[in-house]
Amino acid sequence: MSKASEWLREERRKTLGDWVAFCMKCGFVQRYFEQFEDELPGKCPQCGGEFRARCPACGARFSSAFAVHCEACGGELRPREQFGGPIRRAGK
Ligand SMILES: [Zn+2]
Ligand SMILES: [Zn+2]
Repeated sequence: MSKASEWLREERRKTLGDWVAFCMKCGFVQRYFEQFEDELPGKCPQCGGEFRARCPACGARFSSAFAVHCEACGGELRPREQFGGPIRRAGK
C-alpha cells in the first residue's frame, strides 16, 4: 500500500465511516468503515459500557447514529430512554 493511501486511510478513520457503533449505556457514538470493524473497542471508551456495532437479532450493521430499531429486521437496538430507566449491565 502506498504512503498516500495509507494516509488517506488514517484520515478517514479519524473523521467518519460508513457504519456506526454506539454505547448502550451513555450513548457514545463511533463511526467506522467495514474494514476497520475488528478495531472497534469491545466496550465504550468513555464509560466502559456495552459497545454495540451490530443488531443482536440479525447481525446487521447500523448506518444511523440515532437508530433505535434495526433497519433490516426491525428489532430493538437500544432502549429509547437511553438516559432514563434501568439498563442491563454488560458485566465485562
Ligand atoms: Zn458509554
Ligand atoms: Zn436486525
